[in-house]
Amino acid sequence: MADYDFDLFVIGGGSGGVRAARMAAQTGARVALAEESRLGGTCVIRGCVPKKLMVFASKGAAQVSDAQKFGWDATIGDFDWGRFHPKLTAELERLEGVYRKLLDGSGVKIYDSRATVDGPHTVKLANNQTVSAKHILIAVGGHPVRPPLENAELGLVSNDVFLLEKLPKSVLIVGGGYIACEFACILRNFGVEVTIYARGAQILKGFDDEARGLLSESMKQCGIDIHMGTSVQEMCPADQAPKGPRPTGSDATMGEPAGERRSLATNDKSITDPRAAGPIWTKATTGVEQVFDHVIFATGRAPSTDGLGLDDVGVKLERNGAIAVDEYSQTNIPSIYAIGDVTDRVALTPVAIREGMAFVDTVFKGTPTPVDHNLIASAVFTQPELGTVGLTEDDAARNGPIEVYSTSFRPMNQAFIDGTSRVLMKLIVCAETRKVLGCHIVAPDAGELIQMVGIAVKMGATKEDFDRTCAVHPTISEELVTMREPVRTT
Ligand code: NDP
Repeated sequence: MADYDFDLFVIGGGSGGVRAARMAAQTGARVALAEESRLGGTCVIRGCVPKKLMVFASKGAAQVSDAQKFGWDATIGDFDWGRFHPKLTAELERLEGVYRKLLDGSGVKIYDSRATVDGPHTVKLANNQTVSAKHILIAVGGHPVRPPLENAELGLVSNDVFLLEKLPKSVLIVGGGYIACEFACILRNFGVEVTIYARGAQILKGFDDEARGLLSESMKQCGIDIHMGTSVQEMCPADQAPKGPRPTGSDATMGEPAGERRSLATNDKSITDPRAAGPIWTKATTGVEQVFDHVIFATGRAPSTDGLGLDDVGVKLERNGAIAVDEYSQTNIPSIYAIGDVTDRVALTPVAIREGMAFVDTVFKGTPTPVDHNLIASAVFTQPELGTVGLTEDDAARNGPIEVYSTSFRPMNQAFIDGTSRVLMKLIVCAETRKVLGCHIVAPDAGELIQMVGIAVKMGATKEDFDRTCAVHPTISEELVTMREPVRTT
């Protein structure tokens, strides 16, 4: 039998890789993990965690405004990014330290280095050292992508937003997905002028249409300027704009005087930090020209497989560069597995963690465990939030006859203070089996609510199971168990 340095070498120290490494080590396996950047990966360092902390921070103004309307003598000033940002940075450092401690405590050998695959059982580190392992687990995640547009490098991506030294006065967010909508709400609530250009007919493609519609209305109501069917056609530094149009939504001379502003030549590929780009002139596909302090591209993410050595070893990739794996996360090279966003199955942190745990069950615990990607609840942390599990109305209707139970209303607290925010509670029910096929909630804390509904739906609850559940009163979510008549049957 070959003598390897380790039983498992994990490449990538994000949520999936760290969990798999720790769990494997707990079985007695000799485990190593390499991370080229910071332990914690996308979720902890440049994704879910800093985003959620920004969501919490961004709610302050609305909370104080509501408090005033309830009778509090409360006032609020501007949001001070300069006070928030160092705390955010410190918290991420703390969490990174926790991850390191957890790995250390489990006996995992950490390499703070890029690692690439050098053979079915060999990994090469940045210093050219090679390490052998019986199994290799690739958990390198993905990265945000900019569209193929001249000067796109002047635009920020999600990673950059968390590193801003000051808040811009105005931003253009390109894209209508999770990241676009979440950043739009956060930044708007911090007081930034936010414009969205999204190329589809409605934001959040793939989510339930009614939920998308209500969320879009809510976002517009809070001052986000949403332009559907629109993309950026041209962009360049404002001081190099082809001609004339001066700032509309923003003061282009904000910050430094124009003459001193760092000028970026349109073809200057040496610019690596778009945070320094200064005001950007944009021309939309609709012909509208506008200047924004920053353009943020939220135009999707791609698996980070470039330069990993996978071609040389013969690991099969999908057409979009994702690593092709079977239901056990095994690649076509039997000793090499892959989990998380690099496989582009369901790009969510808890899914990567489950894939990592299923990998350990399969390879180190002798219990072959396929990953269950069915009925995964998720939330978009907009304001209000969108929580969803199961099929949309359209998708369910394509599969057979359904009943739709839906209600949209102003909740009690909003009615009391003359607020305009509405919520949506929606259930999609199979007309034959009576099973709840989908649930869609637009409401404050919908992420918390959908976690609970997700259990019932995963268990195969029927509409009658919901009906016989007594309401918790007075709550928003009691509507989920009190809707008696379908609004539509198809
Ligand atoms: P999404 O796939 O959700 O959205 C990408 C958006 O960019 C879509 O609106 C898409 O348009 C648009 N787009 C793509 N290419 C172009 C282009 N060339 N020009 C203009 N628009 C373009 O990606 P995100 O980056 O928002 O998020 C990536 C993934 O990260 C999500 O799918 C999700 O899995 C995960 N995530 C999860 C979160 C959560 O759980 N709360 C939060 C953030 C991210 P179109 O719709 O027309 O294709």
